[in-house]
Amino acid sequence: MSDLQGREASVVEGVNKQLFIGGSWRDAAAGKTLKVEDPSTGQMLCAVADGSVADGKAALDAAVAAQESWAATPPRERGEILRGAFEIITERADDLALLMTLEMGKPLKESKAEIAYASEFFRWFAEEAVRISGRYSVAPNGATRLMTMKQPVGPCLMITPWNFPMAMGTRKIGPAVAAGCTMVIKPAALTPLSMFALTDILTEAGLPAGVLNVVTTSSTGEVMEPLIRDPRLRKLTFTGSTEVGRRLVEQSAEGLLRVSMELGGNAPFLVFGDADVDRAVDGAMLAKMRNIGEACTAANRFIVHESVAEEFAAKLADRMGGMKSGRGVAEDVEVGPLVEAKQRDKVAELVDDAVDAGATVLTGGERPSGAGYFYPPTVLTEVPTSARVFSEEVFGPVAPIFTFSSDEEGLAMANDTEFGLVAYAYTTDFSRAIKVSEGLQTGMVGINQGVVSNPAAPFGGVKASGFGREGGAEGIEEYLETKYVGLAL
Ligand code: NAP
Repeated sequence: MSDLQGREASVVEGVNKQLFIGGSWRDAAAGKTLKVEDPSTGQMLCAVADGSVADGKAALDAAVAAQESWAATPPRERGEILRGAFEIITERADDLALLMTLEMGKPLKESKAEIAYASEFFRWFAEEAVRISGRYSVAPNGATRLMTMKQPVGPCLMITPWNFPMAMGTRKIGPAVAAGCTMVIKPAALTPLSMFALTDILTEAGLPAGVLNVVTTSSTGEVMEPLIRDPRLRKLTFTGSTEVGRRLVEQSAEGLLRVSMELGGNAPFLVFGDADVDRAVDGAMLAKMRNIGEACTAANRFIVHESVAEEFAAKLADRMGGMKSGRGVAEDVEVGPLVEAKQRDKVAELVDDAVDAGATVLTGGERPSGAGYFYPPTVLTEVPTSARVFSEEVFGPVAPIFTFSSDEEGLAMANDTEFGLVAYAYTTDFSRAIKVSEGLQTGMVGINQGVVSNPAAPFGGVKASGFGREGGAEGIEEYLETKYVGLAL
């Protein structure tokens, strides 16, 4: 245990750190634990259960055993559990935010924003639970009647990343609960504490034993693969890197699972010559600096019309260079550390590569010394498209600026990536906004806005950013099968 004091120590001590299987907390079968650290100091926060293959199987056994009765639970009851959990999360937002900041590093204000965003998935899907319906129609030949009914897919495996430790969970748990599916969830080893806290909240809200099972492990591939290949599993939903996602799709082919993949991004942020530049800078601050740039939706490439590039770059550098960095638990801190040393090394490497390729550093660019995995907000201009930052996801507070001279060129640069999660575009011309939205090869587009995430909207990507949608009316469909019943009169 670290030398945390006061409220910090009490929120970490207050959370259960075992595996949650069949409605009970229990140690890993082999008694092993894994360490969780505070990225702002590099010190250990606590140890949590380190599950084995046997623990993973026990979790799936519990989910399978609970599936039938859970599917038969009235939709209103399922919805009320989500609504109750939403209320509890809202009441405990301050403690949950502190816990998240300690394990993940993001500033408290951002953790609070994530808690609010995460809880909204429960409120949204509480409302969706009672709106599941089928349809009835007369067959074209008039002789038979066609009916459809929606039924839960069945036991699901959910694998989530560390960057949004709670929201990436509620985005999956919410629709699964609403649809009547049971689940095993594996949070990221770097940030398991928020998921443990959420598990207690769902239990308190009345979620029956076995519906949600939580397994943490340091032997991720070894523990997950047998579950994915287990014929009793019916769905895999994954949020994480494209590299791991590809491997999991291959594994899921054996059982022909329903699969949702929320993978990496390389979001372009287009600023056209007619844009309101101040508004674009406000949007850029959100699109780049939300979550310290560690978001799949983070603007990765600023593609700015040559007529406004200098003004945009100067204003963005001024804003980013003025941000206060530090340990996220301090209320006035705006930029926390990156999640781990490996992540910071990658960010520094991409900046060095861009500078070697000819980029100019307007602000930042130097890795600080001292404890924690900090990296300063960095703005780069005159970046050639041959630099690695053009094609690789930075996942850090780095804004490389590229320029274009015609709409066709800007759009082609935006689409010149294997990824296709989200794109942002700033313009005051309505028809340009529509044309650009139609031309962008992404699952989501933000016009004159730097954040698109919204529980009421379908979140997801195309190309190497994956498939499937989370949130909106589409979100629950991922957890439902359509059964057709033909009735001859
Ligand atoms: P990651 O390395 O792919 O890890 C994500 C999750 O997958 C973690 O729980 C991880 O467990 C697990 N995992 C790793 N190897 C596995 C394997 N062989 N089999 C099964 N599970 C495995 O990604 P990350 O670095 O944590 O997250 C960052 C990535 O997520 C970025 O690319 C980002 O764009 C993407 N992301 C996408 C979205 C979206 O909605 N599209 C949202 C957020 C993040 P361990 O913790 O044990 O490694």
